[in-house]
Amino acid sequence: MRGGKAFRRWLRPLLLIVAIGFFVSLYQTWIRIPANVAPWGPVELEQPPGWLARMQINSLAADPPACIAALDRSVLAYRRTPARPIVDGCGLEAAVRPLQSHIAYNRAFDLTCGMMAALYWYEAELQRLAEQHLGSKITRIDQLGTYACRNVNSASAGRRSQHATANAIDIAGFRLADGRSISILDDWGTDAPEARFLAAARDEACRFFNVVLSPDYNRLHANHFHLDLGGFRMCR
Ligand SMILES: [Zn+2]
Repeated sequence: MRGGKAFRRWLRPLLLIVAIGFFVSLYQTWIRIPANVAPWGPVELEQPPGWLARMQINSLAADPPACIAALDRSVLAYRRTPARPIVDGCGLEAAVRPLQSHIAYNRAFDLTCGMMAALYWYEAELQRLAEQHLGSKITRIDQLGTYACRNVNSASAGRRSQHATANAIDIAGFRLADGRSISILDDWGTDAPEARFLAAARDEACRFFNVVLSPDYNRLHANHFHLDLGGFRMCR
């Protein structure tokens, strides 16, 4: 009994000493926490994403200078897109145009910096999924568009789409190094490896983007994945 009492008396000072030792070691960098694991510290897009990836992406999206700095620390080649002030809910601010990324695209596009950071991280994971499910690498992503001054679902009324500020991308399919081409319209929902890849690609997108809409969502998305960084959370 006495032993138990003594232990309890020493427990708090002991925990305090351990905690102080831990923070001193962090400060002195005797202990190194890998990039993207702790909520503090810069986002390192060349390092694997951790469980905080979407939170990190959202903090970059809210802080354009930090976002540009994160792109500058990566190997992505890009140029800043001339700003087009937002008028009537449409425009480009803190947008970039990728010149050379992990994967090539069918055509050039401008995207908000936060979206570009998310996409760059996502590309690396897509490559991993393609090798795992298809045994090949992706050589090209076919995208349908990023910027379009329009409302959600191109409706005549309602709120502006995330596309109106280039805060979204629509991806229709993938070309592989072995010559195959995979289309969301044709390959979604079959029991082929291509469909397993697409399902995994959709699920993986939910780690980086706030809104991920696939053919599972509705018929308007039968031929593409819509990925955006708007204020909603949806993964369908
Ligand atoms: Zn879209």
